[in-house]
Amino acid sequence: MVPRSVAACQTSTWKQELAEAYRHADDLIAALGLRRDQIPDLDPEPPGFRILVPRAFAALMTPGDPHDPLLRQVLPLCTERRSVSGFVPDPVGDATADLGNGLLRKYQGRALLLATGACALHCRYCFRRHFPYSSLGPVADRTAGALSRIAADTRISEVILSGGDPLMLNDDALDALIQRLGDIPHIRRLRIHTRLPVVIPSRVTEALCDLLAAARPAVLVVIHANHPRELGLEAQTSLLRMHRAGLRILNQSVLLQGVNDRAETLQALSVRLFDCGTLPYYLHQLDPVQGASHFEVPDGHALELVETLRRELPGYLVPRLVREMAGAESKIPLVAIGSRSI
Ligand SMILES: *Cc1c(COP(=O)(O)O)cnc(C)c1O
Ligand code: SF4
Repeated sequence: MVPRSVAACQTSTWKQELAEAYRHADDLIAALGLRRDQIPDLDPEPPGFRILVPRAFAALMTPGDPHDPLLRQVLPLCTERRSVSGFVPDPVGDATADLGNGLLRKYQGRALLLATGACALHCRYCFRRHFPYSSLGPVADRTAGALSRIAADTRISEVILSGGDPLMLNDDALDALIQRLGDIPHIRRLRIHTRLPVVIPSRVTEALCDLLAAARPAVLVVIHANHPRELGLEAQTSLLRMHRAGLRILNQSVLLQGVNDRAETLQALSVRLFDCGTLPYYLHQLDPVQGASHFEVPDGHALELVETLRRELPGYLVPRLVREMAGAESKIPLVAIGSRSI
C-alpha cells in the first residue's frame, strides 16, 4: 500500500513543495522530534545563507537523531561563524573565471552558465554559498550576453547549466534556453548539474523528461547525492523515469565529515545509485569555503576510503576522488597531489 503522505506528494506540484519547505530550524527539528538542547551548537538565525529544506528531503531523516547525516548537511551551526584560516568566501576562483553574465570558463571545451542563483535545498558546505548571485540579475537578461559569448567561441563544445540549480527554472524558461543553445552549431553536449531530482523528486515530470530527451545538443544530467538515504523511493522513481527516457545520469558527491566519511556509506551510495540508473562520477574533497570547516575530511582518510571502494566494487561504481583548485586546468585527482599542502 502506498502511504498517504507519498500519495499526497505525488499529486502536489514541485513548486508547492518548494513553497512548503522548512525555512526555520525550529520547525525542522520539531518535525524530527528533536529539542534545541539536543543540538547545542544550533544557529537558528544564520546570517546570509538561511536554512531551506523541502519536506520530502526531511522525511528521509531519522526522527530523534540529532546526528542524522541528512540533517547535518542542512542544519546551520554556530561554528559556521568562526573564521578558520584557509576557509574563504570564494575557494575555487569563480570570480576570476567569470567572463561576465555568470558564464564561468575554467576548462578547455567547457563553459559553465549560472542559470539561476536559486536552489531547493541549502547545503551548508556549498562552495557557492557566498556567491553574489543577486548582482547577476535575472537569467533572461543575462542569457543574450552569455549566449553570444558562447556562439563566438567555437572552442566551446559543451555548456554546463549550473547555479544554483538550473531545474529551479520552469520548463518554459529551460526549454527556451536549451533551444537557443541548440542553435549554436559547435555545442555538442549540454550538461545539467542539479540536486532537484534528489531533494524534490516531483520536479522530474514526464514533461521535463520529454523536453530533455528531445533536446539537441544531447543532455547529460549530473545529480548530487552524498548519502544512500537521500535516494528514497521517490527519488528512485524520478531517476528511473529520466533513465527510461534515454538520459544519461551521473552523480557527484562531496566527502563530508559526519555524513559520508565511512567506506560502508560510500559503498552503499554507489550501489543505490546504480539501482537508480545513475553512475558515480566525482567524489569531491571539500572546497574550503568559509563556514564549512567542520565538514573537512583529511586527504589521507579520503584516499583510504577510495582504496576500500576500489577493492569492494566494480570499477564503474568507484567515483573519481578530486579536488578543485583555483586556476588549475581540470579537477585534480587526489592521488596525483597526495596532500593538502601542495
Ligand atoms: C567542474 C567544472 C566544470 C566541469 O568539469 P568536468 O571535469 O568536465 O566535470 C566545468 N567548468 C567549471 C567552471 C567547473 O567548475
Ligand atoms: S544544491 Fe548545490 S548549489 Fe545549491 S546549495 Fe546545495 S551544493 Fe550549493
